[in-house]
Amino acid sequence: MPAALQRTIPTRRSAPTTASDGLVDRFGRRAIDLRVSLTERCNLRCTYCMPAEGLPFAPNDALMNAAEIERLVRLGATHLGVRKVRFTGGEPMLRADIVDIIARCAAIPDGPELSVTTNAIGLASRAARLRAAGLRRVNVSLDTVDPDAFARITRRPFLDRVLEGLAAAHAAGLGVKVNAVLLRGENDLLAVPLLRWCLERGYELRFIEQMPLDPGHAWDRTEMITAAEIRELLSETFVVTPRDEDRDGAPAERYDVVDRVSGEALGTVGIIASVTESFCADCTRTRLTADGHVRSCLFSDAETDVLGPMRAGASDDEVVAIWQRAMWEKPRDHGVDSTGFIHPVRGMSAIGG
Ligand code: SAM
Ligand code: SF4
Repeated sequence: MPAALQRTIPTRRSAPTTASDGLVDRFGRRAIDLRVSLTERCNLRCTYCMPAEGLPFAPNDALMNAAEIERLVRLGATHLGVRKVRFTGGEPMLRADIVDIIARCAAIPDGPELSVTTNAIGLASRAARLRAAGLRRVNVSLDTVDPDAFARITRRPFLDRVLEGLAAAHAAGLGVKVNAVLLRGENDLLAVPLLRWCLERGYELRFIEQMPLDPGHAWDRTEMITAAEIRELLSETFVVTPRDEDRDGAPAERYDVVDRVSGEALGTVGIIASVTESFCADCTRTRLTADGHVRSCLFSDAETDVLGPMRAGASDDEVVAIWQRAMWEKPRDHGVDSTGFIHPVRGMSAIGG
């Protein structure tokens, strides 16, 4: 059991009263890592994330525009201690103004480090401009490099476009990590070739346990591939040894990977055990949905509208106070692995993964 689970999360006594208190919650955690969803729309339909027919998407004018995103990122960074911002969705490359959003946020004095999570479709034509605008890293979601399995999982035959986007990001000097979800009978037995493919190209691969964030509520705890199973799958081919390093709130546990036959050190792999080895006690995240709601936890339906008050003329201090109050109510943990767990209403693509 990870140390995070063995610790009791203490309850803090007093709510924040000034901006310098930052985004603290009742359990003493401080959010410094902001996820900003740019859209709910997507050009893929990954089975664990979106239904085949899509979802009823909010109209564009209900979404935060570039100036509103910049204002919230600025307030997060300059007033509330946010140090990292990751743009996500839906598919962020579907935002026509993505380069402008990055440029605006990168221009914030003493601003946060900026990254994007993307399926990489549409990244090839933008990678160099995003890098020039100030983007540092991309996390590309790629569950397999087998074209048939890719088309089954994403319900679209676009593997070539993803690989083109990945290569362009690397060539543009962006840091590249690859995220993969393993599904039983679909790509679990393709985990080793995917890891080899990433190691050969210098992309850090992280396997993520499938979470109950599919709007169809088809997630089944007994069917999901656990972190323990991933370690076993990889161990048939590689020696995987946990790295002796401080995770510092990072969700991925990283392992050194050595070829079992040749003994050659090949690089590292990460495993994000969101369900079976929850890291709630060390969570440093806060989220903004594309329609401008603060969501303190992926798994809690509690959301606080901050865009509405901003459009009604709220001052910076008022916006900061709304955000702080929302974070104060962050739940202790997600409870996914317990019997009383209730599936959240919004799915991953609508919250911002
Ligand atoms: N469209 C972009 C992409 O796929 O990278 C960004 C949004 S997507 C919701 C962000 C991440 O969430 C992806 O890495 C995806 O694999 C992951 N994800 C989506 N649904 C998930 C689920 N049910 N369990 C675990 N990860 C999930
Ligand atoms: Fe789209 Fe990303 Fe969800 Fe796949 S995981 S459907 S690419 S939002």
